Amino acid sequence: MVRDTEIFKLIEEEKQRQINGIELIASENFVSEEVMQAMGSVLTNKYAEGLPGKRYYGGCEVVDKVEQLAIDRLCQLFGATWANVQPHSGAQANAAVFLACLQPGDKILGFDLSHGGHLTHGSPVNFSGKLYQPFFYGVNKETGRVDYDVLEETARREQPKMIICGASAYSRDWDYARIRKVADEVGAIILADISHPAGLIAAGLLEDPLEHCHIVTSTTHKTLRGPRGGVIMMRHNFDNPFGLKWNNGNLKSMGALLDAAVFPGIQGGPLEHVIAAKAVAFGEALTDNYKNYMKQVQKNAAVMADEFIKRGYTIISGGTDNHSMLIDLRSKGVTGKDAENTLVKADITVNKNMVPFDTESPFVTSGIRVGTAAITSRGVVETEIPQIVELIDQVLMNIENESVINEVKTKVKALMGSRPLFQF
Ligand code: PLP
Repeated sequence: MVRDTEIFKLIEEEKQRQINGIELIASENFVSEEVMQAMGSVLTNKYAEGLPGKRYYGGCEVVDKVEQLAIDRLCQLFGATWANVQPHSGAQANAAVFLACLQPGDKILGFDLSHGGHLTHGSPVNFSGKLYQPFFYGVNKETGRVDYDVLEETARREQPKMIICGASAYSRDWDYARIRKVADEVGAIILADISHPAGLIAAGLLEDPLEHCHIVTSTTHKTLRGPRGGVIMMRHNFDNPFGLKWNNGNLKSMGALLDAAVFPGIQGGPLEHVIAAKAVAFGEALTDNYKNYMKQVQKNAAVMADEFIKRGYTIISGGTDNHSMLIDLRSKGVTGKDAENTLVKADITVNKNMVPFDTESPFVTSGIRVGTAAITSRGVVETEIPQIVELIDQVLMNIENESVINEVKTKVKALMGSRPLFQF
């Protein structure tokens, strides 16, 4: 019998919202029953500070095996030779890397937040911009793609200790080899934050960052389709690029440093129930079923970008290589804020997003970001995408018209309401 009816009623309400809507937030997904079961398991009762085999608490024999499985599966998935699966989130994973590799005041070079980067890549409102000295590269105004010339020029001029690549709202693949060249030239370490495209990378559909970048972080809940959380990975030994005392230049010592940065550096006890759920998700991601899912995500996104373009929308960079796209709504006379607020009335969820060289504030914005990872988990295929884009267009072209919005809401429910949350 449920005793806390207040909370469980709300959970049921949220479940219905998820079932009946079209979820296009690029950073969200629907996890499998087994991932949820692992998260809701007795493992939440266990304290396990430390690492498998080296804990500060008794009774960790079982969770040691759980965590080791998560590490091994993650390494297999990405061809990594070292991994830490304890970060509670993507931001925590990045914080641990900064703590391990940098001293306060060190220069870092990241992708501009207003061009699609993440807060933890040097934003002044985040620890990364408060404790370190951030410099930024962005996208080229004409192409909408990362301006590697500016990245290289800034790296040569500022000699940052760390170059960060990866983004929250960037639809193109990355030239990791080119970034490695300039990093070697200036003696910088590269952090690739693959939070968004991780699943596509794992499925071999995008360039492999672990081959070129020293340290790779990711969230586990976006395209990877696991529980909310973070991970850190490495593949190769690399020379200590800037003479840090603790690193004798090999992966093992770097790994020990990163482990110590996670715990006791920035976290206490690991969430072993979440780590178990990560292991389940990594196991799922190793299957052909998941690879096919990722291919469908990519296909759905490509068709979606084309459908928006056909209806006169501007997609930054003119298309997508991954699961997401950034839509500049200025040509349609709608702000990102109005688009987000109106679409939600029709049970279509997106998020407002700054577009490169935006003229609106971050609270208003000129764009929205959309992604196909979540709808694809619910079984949406490319032949259904034109209909979804048509529904979005109807809302955006009628943001004051309640009856059109209600009609769209009914169609959204008809399209999604009978599908289970997770289809695979
Ligand atoms: N890095 C990137 C590129 C992200 O897009 C995000 C989340 O959106 C994060 C890190 C932070 O992840 P979390 O919200 O789990 O802290």
